[in-house]
Amino acid sequence: GKKVLIVYAHQEPKSFNGSLLKIAVEELTKQGCSVTVSDLYAMQFEPRATRNDIVGRLHNSEAFNYGVETWEAYKRGGLSRDVVEEQKKVQEADLLIFQFPLFWFNMPAILKGWMDRVLVQGFAYDLSKAYDGGLLQDKLSLFSFTTGGSKEKYATRGDIRYLLWPMQHGIMHFCGVKVLEPHICYAPENVSEEKRKEMLTAWTQRLKTLWKEEPIDCSPEWYFK
Ligand code: FAD
Ligand code: ZN
Repeated sequence: GKKVLIVYAHQEPKSFNGSLLKIAVEELTKQGCSVTVSDLYAMQFEPRATRNDIVGRLHNSEAFNYGVETWEAYKRGGLSRDVVEEQKKVQEADLLIFQFPLFWFNMPAILKGWMDRVLVQGFAYDLSKAYDGGLLQDKLSLFSFTTGGSKEKYATRGDIRYLLWPMQHGIMHFCGVKVLEPHICYAPENVSEEKRKEMLTAWTQRLKTLWKEEPIDCSPEWYFK
């Protein structure tokens, strides 16, 4: 079976995001996938990129450079345990699903912190090993998120794909990870109970044929044309 890592960023299990997570775990498990969840708030995941991420001596203690220090620490096996654990989960996964509510046209800080701390140079990318040459090849990613704004509002305020450029292209594609179509549930707080159930069913349905999907062509055209 395939291995799936779901990185989940919502504080409340009873939330709509919590329901989307539950559905993904149940459906993918039913398919025979082995599913791991990183429930970032429950884990009290540290989002800050600090000196504490390096165990032992610094490469240059005169002037701290997070990128250089984590790269050096990765090479000598000196990254903090929580980061190493997440890297292990990423390494083993065939598919990364990110489940979150949209915060300020972006992912919540705790999830951004996961990206900052886990996708270290040497592990996820390297000098001249980026984008199609990134180090996390043969993996898929899927951004599944909810919004406050309605689909109609987003349609009149510019394509929602613009927001996905930094996440899908700037992070996943940069690391060599292929990107599946995002899954967006618009305004779960403001639609009817019936519509909410419909959106949850649509997610179950999509997951049923997920492994047959082709990745998007993650190039500027997909986002800005
Ligand atoms: P919830 O409020 O948890 O769920 C909505 C409803 O669904 C609830 O009534 C819940 O009980 C119900 N529900 C849960 N499970 C089920 C189920 N199984 N069946 C039926 N009903 C169910 N929005 C934007 O569009 N753009 C932004 O830039 C943006 N920035 C934000 C920044 C911040 C700091 C914050 C706090 C919010 C922002 N928002 C923004 C809004 C945010 O994206 C939405 O509030 C969020 O996506 C809603 O998802 P939720 O899971 O929290 O919803
Ligand atoms: Zn891209």
